[in-house]
Order: sequence, then structure tokens, then C-alpha cells
Amino acid sequence: MARGVEASHRVAELALGALKKIGLAASPRNIEIWCAHVDGKNPALSRDMQAATDKEGYITQTQLDELYKKYIQRADLSRDVIDIVTRFREEVSELHDAIEETGEHAHDHNETLTGINEQLRQTTEEYPAVGKLLEDVIAVTKSMREENEKLETRLADSAGEIAALQRNVEHIQAEAQKDPLTGVANRGEFDKALAREIKHASENNEPLALVLADIDHFKSFNDKWGHQTGDQVLRLVAEVMNANVKGQDMLARYGGEEFAIILPGTTMENAEMLANRIRFAVESRRLKKRRTDEDLGVVTMSMGISAHSEEDTSESMVERADKCLYAAKEAGRNCVISENGKAEDEHQRAAG
Ligand code: GH3
Ligand code: MG
Ligand code: MG
Repeated sequence: MARGVEASHRVAELALGALKKIGLAASPRNIEIWCAHVDGKNPALSRDMQAATDKEGYITQTQLDELYKKYIQRADLSRDVIDIVTRFREEVSELHDAIEETGEHAHDHNETLTGINEQLRQTTEEYPAVGKLLEDVIAVTKSMREENEKLETRLADSAGEIAALQRNVEHIQAEAQKDPLTGVANRGEFDKALAREIKHASENNEPLALVLADIDHFKSFNDKWGHQTGDQVLRLVAEVMNANVKGQDMLARYGGEEFAIILPGTTMENAEMLANRIRFAVESRRLKKRRTDEDLGVVTMSMGISAHSEEDTSESMVERADKCLYAAKEAGRNCVISENGKAEDEHQRAAG
């Protein structure tokens, strides 16, 4: 067996062995990502794989799916972009050829007209030939008009094609900014947006708040109902949160069962009110299993909020919101804690 072939079999065997050991299916996707990991050519993937596996080397299907989406599908995405750019270039090059071709025709016509003009000058005295010459001029003009019309059609077709390609690229760009499970902004977009908003807040002396929200006891929810149902709940939570986030506010999936909301131009007091409104909206949803309609109970969220202050960086804002989130967990979960302390909401106040 050739060396390359032998090595590829060894990689596949290692991948299959590992999947079997941890009890995950030998599906094409699982094999593909595991082979890429064993192969070791993508250090970022291998690092994430190692971080996701526990001491015994176990990893869940959901985690593996996320890594697949991040490393394998992303690669497909960039291939798509390259394909589109290639098609775009071909289109432009065809357009260029078409224009050049028409330019050559115009050059020919020009020579014909010059010839006619010369003859016209020579034959001015002997009128008889003028009629014939005029006919030629008309024929040439007609032919030029036809060429121009052809070029116009080609240009219109190409412009249509280019506009469609542009829409395609825009769609792919928009997809690359989303978290594939929930459809809200992904971590990469969150990082960019937070850096941008911090800069804006500092330069314009405007308020800015950051909410970190984490689902309570989600591990036991997953253990009880399974990861697929867990995923369904993550989607629903994102939907409920998104319904309460408007305008320039940005909801993102920060990771796992954790979400972040960037609130530009928002004071701490208003951020607390919004966080509590979202917390209450999530808590108020009775969850049902999709296929069986089985009652899944409710999920709750704990939240931590930091407000922008001078000299703040993305890291320091996230760190302080995270500390508040931790305090909310410590305080018994299903509550909002900001840098000002526990944020009471209308429902809590009403309850006394
Ligand atoms: P706490 O109240 O302290 O936050 O407890 P927790 O169980 O929510 O927190 P922990 O960090 O122990 O567990 C988080 C769980 O979230 C573990 C993991 O299985 C689950 N999880 C993370 N991402 C996903 C996902 O994409 N889908 C599903 N179904 N579960 C996920
Ligand atoms: Mg949690
Ligand atoms: Mg968490």
C-alpha cells in the first residue's frame, strides 16, 4: 500500500476507534471531524476538541456538532465565497471581451465611413453616385446600431448576473455572522460589536451596558430530556430574548447556554429593567416537547450586568458582568445582579 494511503487508513482507524470508545455514531460527519482532529493539520480544531473532552476523553454529540459547524462547514463557506468570486471574475472578463469586440466593430465601421466620406468628396461634381453612397452610410449606421443593441443586452445580462452574485455574497456574509443553532449573532460578531460600542461610548461620552445571561441548571435539563430537546430549548430561549431586544441592541450567543446583550446608549437602570423583563419572559414560558407535547416545565436564567466606565475594555466589561452573573447564581439563580447590587423587578416588588 502506498504510504499516503496507509497513513489515511491509520487516521480513519484511530477516528473510528475513538468514536466507538465514547459511544458516538460512526456517521460521515463524526468521522470527518474526528479524522480532521487526529490528522492534526488544524491546531485550532484539535485545541477546541481537547478543551471540550473531559478527563475520560468523552465529548457529547452536540459539542461535536458545534465543532463540525465551526471548522468543517466554515471551510465550506469560504470555498463558496471563493467560487462566487471566481464566477464574478469570469463574468467581468466576458464583459470586457464583449466591449472589446464591439470596439473592433466600431473601428471597422469608422474605416468604412471614412472611405465613403472620401468618395463623397471626390464625386461631389458627378452627382450620380451620391444616392448609392447614402445607401451605404445608412447600411453601416444600421449595422452599428444592431451591434450597440447587442452590447446593451450583454451589459444588461451581465449587470443582472453581477447583482445576483452580490446578493449571494451578502447572504453568505450574513450567515457567517450568525450562530447556526439559534440564528442570533455569534461570538465573533459579539466581540466585534462590543469593541465598536465601547469605542463609541468613550468617544461620545454615552452610556453602554452589557448583560450576560446564563440558563440555570441546564446540565440537569439536558440529562433529563436529552440534548436534542436541550437544543430546542436553546432556540426558544434565544427567540424569547430576541423578541425583547430592539433597535441598536444586540443579542448574541456567547457560548453554550450563555447569551450576551449589548445595550448601547442604555443606563444601568434601564438595562436592569430590560434584563428582568427578559428573565420574566423566559420563566413564563411553559416548555413542551415538540413531537410528544410532553410538559418540560420551565427554565430560568441568571443575569449579570456591567456598565461602561472610563478606561473599560471588552475584557474588563465582560469580566465584571461575569462576576455579577456568578453572584446571581450564588444568590439562588433566576435573578439579575448588576454592579449596583440585586435588581428587583416589578414582580418581585409586587410580591413584597
Ligand atoms: P448553572 O445554573 O450553574 O449555570 O448550571 P448549568 O447546569 O446550567 O451549568 P453547567 O456549566 O454545569 O452546564 C452547562 C450545560 O449546558 C452543559 C452542557 O451540556 C449544556 N450545553 C451547552 N451548550 C449546549 C448546546 O449547544 N446544546 C445543548 N443541548 N446543551 C448545551
Ligand atoms: Mg447554566
Ligand atoms: Mg454556563
